[in-house]
Amino acid sequence: MTPFMRHPIEGKNIVVIGAGAGGLSAGILLSLLDYRVTIVEKNRAPGGLMRSYARRGIDCPVGVHYVGGLSPSEPLGKMFDVLGIDVADLFYRMGDNGVIDRYIFDDFVFDLPAGIDEYEKRLRAACPADAGALDVIMKNLRRIAGQMKEPSFFFKQGDPFQNLDHFRPMGELLNDLAVSPRLRAILAVPCQLIGVELADCPVIFHHMVAAGYLFSSWRLKDSGARMADVFASRFAELGGRLMLNQSVRKINLEKGSVASISLDTGEDLPADAAVAAIHPKTILGLLPESALRASLRQRILALEETEGVIGVQASVDAAAHAAIHHNIYRLHHNADGFIEDGVFYQIRRGNDQQSNLLSIITRSRYSDWRRWEKTLTGKRGVAYNEQKLMMAYSLLKKAEAIFGPLQNLQILDVFTPLTLRDWVNCPEGSCYGVLRSAGQLLKIASLNNLPIRGLCLAGQNAMAPGLLGSILGSFNAVRQLIGDGRFVGEFHRQL
Ligand SMILES: Cc1cc2nc3c(=O)[nH]c(=O)nc-3n(C[C@H](O)[C@H](O)[C@H](O)COP(=O)(O)OP(=O)(O)OC[C@H]3O[C@@H](n4cnc5c(N)ncnc54)[C@H](O)[C@@H]3O)c2cc1C
Repeated sequence: MTPFMRHPIEGKNIVVIGAGAGGLSAGILLSLLDYRVTIVEKNRAPGGLMRSYARRGIDCPVGVHYVGGLSPSEPLGKMFDVLGIDVADLFYRMGDNGVIDRYIFDDFVFDLPAGIDEYEKRLRAACPADAGALDVIMKNLRRIAGQMKEPSFFFKQGDPFQNLDHFRPMGELLNDLAVSPRLRAILAVPCQLIGVELADCPVIFHHMVAAGYLFSSWRLKDSGARMADVFASRFAELGGRLMLNQSVRKINLEKGSVASISLDTGEDLPADAAVAAIHPKTILGLLPESALRASLRQRILALEETEGVIGVQASVDAAAHAAIHHNIYRLHHNADGFIEDGVFYQIRRGNDQQSNLLSIITRSRYSDWRRWEKTLTGKRGVAYNEQKLMMAYSLLKKAEAIFGPLQNLQILDVFTPLTLRDWVNCPEGSCYGVLRSAGQLLKIASLNNLPIRGLCLAGQNAMAPGLLGSILGSFNAVRQLIGDGRFVGEFHRQL
């Protein structure tokens, strides 16, 4: 518990900034607790990164390709239960063919299965020389997986000293265990899912991501747009007010506490507390300069970001390129097993009989797009479009090495770090918010300790990225706002 959140908030009015997965979850939880909640969202539609968009009638995903841990006894499943959102309505379970992800390396292929026991079996078969190291890694992974299923996982999050060993970098642990390059390469993939390099990825985050998907993996039945709308409807059903197409311009303070929120329309919303489900650097721009010590402000501004991505959405002939029920990662590792580049692929059913959707995502440096950083989506000019297309064709060519010549190929859309930056206000198009590296953990800790009464961070920047991390971050924000005692009392039974 932080010194500034020691007392639960007084008053009923809460403004949530941002209607992504994090903001909507926080809004739902607070409405369940009878607060008067207003969510302000700058976009015309709710959802942030979780929202998909349609091109030529085909739904194109952005930030929800697959999700882990949604069964009733698993962390995300329990949180959906508290939120009152029906998992089976939105998702179907992957892995009926025994594969969740196929990692294709130059020299071997590894299939990520459903289930920790099967994972261990496959790791031992793929890396026979790593038997001793796997004893240690699997014991650790099982321990963290077990903790994720305990209610204490939700109730003790604020304590950074629970187990310091969990915060050491995976790279260091694997060096100590002298693992083979092959095992290092396989274990590096979960780190990619939160945008951190294996060498510097805290053990806890690696294991949480891996365990989440090993518990159970799920894909959306319909679309991210529908998922966002289901979250927004649930919020409305509980009496919440969602203001779309309006940006928060200022968080106003009185005597160091949140007092009201000013919108770009000039309207002021009274607020006894504010939940900022947006990027911390964006929050700085909303606060009076004097609200934070210069050193803290500087520390937040200097935080390293996760990298941006480029995404290619293309329709392909459905007969030639059937939907694939697992995800594919094409990865290249160096001699030590560190991944040098990786590309994510999904081929999913399109919206008609003739075409399927091929989605491709890979890292893309902001610096490659910097010369257009002062432009806005749709108005970036010919050179930008040419650059996007050039990169898209190069990625599609690589895809042909896996899927064969792409029949009836049509590029539907290409998004870049600039697209994501403008869609959700994330600096430099950072995909997963601030970098959760071991080297940056202490600096990040201060984000959950903002010295302003009634202001807390939620969503992917609060605790961890991904749908699981974002929603968990919002549960934690609500816990801070209402106090541990009430949080435990309200949710212990379901969590
Ligand atoms: C390409 C990509 C693929 C991904 N794939 C997966 C995946 O397969 N599985 C998974 O679990 N996770 C995935 N993720 C991560 C996941 O999408 C995010 O962690 C999660 O959606 C973040 O939710 P959030 O609410 O924290 O933030 P956001 O979705 O960024 O929401 C923030 C919201 O705040 C709004 N906002 C910002 N500033 C203001 C302001 N001043 N006033 C009002 N509103 C404002 C924004 O418009 C936005 O709607 C992926 C992410 C990306 C980028």
